[in-house]
Amino acid sequence: MAIVNSHFATVQAKEGEDSAQLLADIEGVIGQCRRCALCEGRTNVVPGFGNPAARVMLVGEAPGKNEDLQGRPFVGAAGHYLTDLLALAGLSRDEVFIANVLKCRPPSNRDPHPDEIVTCTPYLRDQVRAIGPEFLVTMGNFSTKFILKTERGITRLHGQVTMAGRFKVFPVYHPAAALYDPTKQVAIEADFRRLGELLKG
Ligand code: SF4
Repeated sequence: MAIVNSHFATVQAKEGEDSAQLLADIEGVIGQCRRCALCEGRTNVVPGFGNPAARVMLVGEAPGKNEDLQGRPFVGAAGHYLTDLLALAGLSRDEVFIANVLKCRPPSNRDPHPDEIVTCTPYLRDQVRAIGPEFLVTMGNFSTKFILKTERGITRLHGQVTMAGRFKVFPVYHPAAALYDPTKQVAIEADFRRLGELLKG
């Protein structure tokens, strides 16, 4: 268990609770959430999925159509590609935790609105606190800008480690963006190989 601190915004951490129990509690709160209008159009909430003791936590943007239908993050074509990318870093899906900035699907996969990000991200913060990963791999502009509190774009930041508190933040392109763009594909695959090196180091 690696809980960074006990200041949870969305759950009351109980004495002796471990990461898995905390994540389940946070997931329970997210499952009932109606804090923003995105709850109206969702089929399922997509809280996140993976290893509660993950050394690497990946953060994307928001659920898409397949994710909304299944309630799991990264299950469509971009998800299959992400599995391949993790393998380049020597990781399996069972070893990591995957979440998004938003937990409900925006209509027609539009970009998250700033007010939705403000409203939803206490959940993400609490998930990060519950897991306490060594690496936060931010995928795409929205998660990178939120976690690094920067206006610099992913094109400039990908593949570089930046410390944010005790976390090593490692931005990469969003797998969905890289899927059909050969230039981004070369970059994201090199970045995941580098992540593998960093994990060994
Ligand atoms: S997107 Fe986040 S804040 Fe909005 S309803 Fe879903 S879980 Fe709640």
